Amino acid sequence: MIERIVAPPLGANVYLILDEKKALVDVGGDFDFIHRAVSGYIDVKELDYIILTHTHFDHASATRDLREVSNAKVMLHEKEYDFAKLQNFSSSFFGINFPPFEADSLLKEGDVIDLGKLKLEVIHTPGHTPGSICLYDEGERLMFTGDTVFPNGGFGRVDFPGGNAVEMIESLKRLSEFDVEIMYPGHDEPVNSANEHVKLALKFARMFL
Ligand SMILES: [Zn+2]
Repeated sequence: MIERIVAPPLGANVYLILDEKKALVDVGGDFDFIHRAVSGYIDVKELDYIILTHTHFDHASATRDLREVSNAKVMLHEKEYDFAKLQNFSSSFFGINFPPFEADSLLKEGDVIDLGKLKLEVIHTPGHTPGSICLYDEGERLMFTGDTVFPNGGFGRVDFPGGNAVEMIESLKRLSEFDVEIMYPGHDEPVNSANEHVKLALKFARMFL
């Protein structure tokens, strides 16, 4: 019920969750691609939610167009939406603009997105961007981690605008306290034994940041 779609232009993971509610976690940067990919599973009009882990263009720049055709509700952390607007929906690092989108629901720490079987708790994990979030389901012990933490000790870059090394370490420390079996990262393959991967990332972040 969780399908991984690797989206252009930079191979960001998009996750299609087929629960009582249908949701996408991130959308990638190519509307035509993601529209086609999702259509392989459901009619895009069945999409209920578009949940953004953060607003870097490789994860989020297809949002406006996908929202328009699907009528899905766009949800992201309130700080991330402010950040995206402040940045004028561009990545000054990559020099790429993307179509500004409307948000339907601004999330904050502790909110729960009820998809049916999955109930995704919002964990605010700044560091990669000011409003990066992870999404945790306690029952299934799974977590979508965006670009905050990756398998094998990887963690998100903190040298883009809005990045913060101190916050990244603090976020990884918090994540290490959750009981997680499966990690669904924003890049690379999903992995089991997620806790071990998160602990390694925390160790490396403390060494290198
Ligand atoms: Zn990113």
